Amino acid sequence: MSKFCESCGAPLSSPEMQGPSSKYCKYCTDAAGKLKPRAEVQRGIAEWLKTWQPGITQEQAIKRADHYMKAMPAWAED
Ligand SMILES: [Zn+2]
Repeated sequence: MSKFCESCGAPLSSPEMQGPSSKYCKYCTDAAGKLKPRAEVQRGIAEWLKTWQPGITQEQAIKRADHYMKAMPAWAED
């Protein structure tokens, strides 16, 4: 099992993040453990960014989420 979600970097050691997949957290997968579409995961990460950076706009949050995801194994571009 991976230690961190390969899609968003969430720690899989915490039970509330664990879903049906061993590679991804429950927020990045559907009920069957399949990875959600990139745009959907991106929106989720943007919301998460906004919770600890209250000053940023939705547009900035989406941009930062995009940048963040490029470092994730599930979304890495080569
Ligand atoms: Zn995740």
